[in-house]
This record gives sequence, structure tokens and C-alpha cells, in this order.
Amino acid sequence: MSRVYNFSAGPAVLPEEVLKEAAEEMLDYRGCGMSVMEMSHRSKMFENIIQEAEADLRDLLEIPDNYKVLFLQGGASQQFAMIPMNLMKNRVADYIVTGQWAKKAWQEAQKYGKANKIASSEDKTYSYIPDCSDLPISPDADYVYICENNTIYGTKFKKLPNTKGKTLVADVSSCFLSEPVDVSKYGILYGGVQKNIGPAGMVISIIREDLITEDVLPGTPTMLTFKTHADAGSMYNTPNCYCIYMCGKVFKWLKKMGGLSAMKERNENKARILYDFLDSSSLFKGTVVPEDRSLMNVPFVTGNKDLDAKFVKEAQEAGLENLKGHRTVGGMRASIYNAMPVEGVEALVNFMKNFEKENG
Ligand SMILES: *Cc1c(COP(=O)(O)O)cnc(C)c1O
Repeated sequence: MSRVYNFSAGPAVLPEEVLKEAAEEMLDYRGCGMSVMEMSHRSKMFENIIQEAEADLRDLLEIPDNYKVLFLQGGASQQFAMIPMNLMKNRVADYIVTGQWAKKAWQEAQKYGKANKIASSEDKTYSYIPDCSDLPISPDADYVYICENNTIYGTKFKKLPNTKGKTLVADVSSCFLSEPVDVSKYGILYGGVQKNIGPAGMVISIIREDLITEDVLPGTPTMLTFKTHADAGSMYNTPNCYCIYMCGKVFKWLKKMGGLSAMKERNENKARILYDFLDSSSLFKGTVVPEDRSLMNVPFVTGNKDLDAKFVKEAQEAGLENLKGHRTVGGMRASIYNAMPVEGVEALVNFMKNFEKENG
């Protein structure tokens, strides 16, 4: 067996320990004679799995009691519609557009009401986070929306926007559980789990209880109503059982690693190694303004497309996989999520140093 260093933006690297444990339990989960994939979601066994997963997530994020945790299908993209359908009572919402995912969410919300783009960084290819200290928030806005970490462009909100008292909704897909957060500052925070938590196919939505009501837009499907899933403990229909099980294992791994403060320290250290090299390199250069740099997704370029392609190819041959930038921006991107060990980042930087010597 040989494992590579996988810098994919998602689906992405998972802790090796977690994969091994899942492999050991594949045929016979804790003496029940079947795999978690084969068991009823109504069984006692699975009930324990989902309840423990939620409890561990609540511990990790210190989620207040007046927030529900929902394990939903349809990925993060489904939330682009589900959020306006459930929250747009006045049919007005304000969007801060800092990348493609925020733009998609903003465009989707336009189907349901007046979705205002109140700030954007599109003028400079989303390479920075706009000043959000005094934005023209709509007086009747049902919520203010951000994508907190921009997976494609590698920017991160270091400070949440001033929403002037309006409910903040955040897509945290690519920074989920990478550092401690104050959940009480959000109305909703949600993320697709395939970036930093588990396998693809699920989104976790953490929602303040007063936002979960029957008063949704007319025509909202039962399955797209938060209340349906909140009332049923995420088991209105068959949930993504195996994914919940895997996420639960990752939550336990995170707790064992020391929780989110320890993860933050670890992630800062990894990111520092890579950004310090980029800042000193004569060949490679980071594309994001330093103050808005993500700890999770690090885009960089040589400035020469052919050289970029050569780098990606040779890196892959050296066991450093998935370093090609998003198809819309080119260049390179190293996603260094929680499960990427520091050794992976060090191997990448060493490879870059050699490449620079040979091609600089
Ligand atoms: C990947 C990603 C999405 C889309 O996730 P899906 O689960 O594929 O729908 C949305 N937002 C952000 C920030 C992402 O990184």
C-alpha cells in the first residue's frame, strides 16, 4: 500500500487513522455482524452513531442549546435554495460576493426574492475580502450571507461582517472545524462535509431555533423545509448513514487531537510553512492579499502557464497529488485541510524549492 499526499480541494484527504478504523469495522460493526452501510437507520446501533456524532460536534464547536444540528443531503449547493426558501419572509436578502460559491448562492436566491449584492471582490478576481464594516444593509433584509472561506480563491473572512443586527448566514464548507468559532454570532452556519470533515454527499447545517419555522415560502417542498428535518432529528427520510458514521469518527479524531484550538495551531503552522516559502520564492507567488489568506486553500502561480502545467505533472509523479488550480482560475492550489499532516506541507515546499532551482 502506498498513500500519496492529496491536496485535493474536495472530496479531500481524511485522517488515516479514521480510514483504518472504518476498514476494520467494514464487515462487522462492533459485533453486530453487519456493516454500518447495511443497517437500518432506525436501529439502536445507528441511533447511537448519529446521537454520538451530534454530541461530539456540539462539544467541538460548543454549539449553544438553542441551535439545531441537521445532517442533510443535497450538498452545500442545496442550501443555496433551502436558505432563501426558509428564511426570506420579507423576500429580501443581502449577499457579499467573494467568489464563485457566494455568487452561485446569490444567483439562486434571486429566484425567491430580492437578493442584493452589497459587496464584492470580483474586480480583482476575488483575491481579497472587501471591507464589511459599514455596508448598505437593507433595512428589511431577512439575512446577510457570506461564504466564509473561499475554496477556489483562497481567501477567508478574518472578521465577520457588520450585519447591523441582521441574521448572519455563512457557508463554512472549506473551513468547517478548522478553528474555534463563536456559533452564537451566526443564524446559520453550514458546510458540505467533503472538504474538511468526511466523505461527499452530506451537508451539516447548524441553525438557530427561531429560524426554523413552518412559515416558509409557498411551494417549498417538505424535504427542503428545515422544520421537517429538525422535528425528525435528521431522520425524516433515510439519511446518509455511512457519511454520518464517518463524520462521527472524524469528530472523535478531532477531540483526540486536542479539539479546535489545537487544530487552529496546527493549521496555522502548516499554512505558515507554505506562505513563508511563497513570500520568499523567486518563482512562485501567492495570489491572495496577505491579510485575507486562507489557512485551508492556498492558490499560487509561477506566472507561466506551461511551467504551471509542468509543475503539476512533476509534483504528481513525486506523490503530491491534485495541485492543479480550479479550472476557472488556473495555476496551482494546495488544499491543506485538518487531515493534511505537516509532513505533507514540508514535502510540497521541498519539492517547490527543487523545482525552482531547476526551472527558475
Ligand atoms: C465545495 C463547495 C460548495 C459546493 O459543495 P457541494 O457539496 O458540492 O454542493 C459550496 N460552497 C463552498 C464554499 C465549497 O467549497
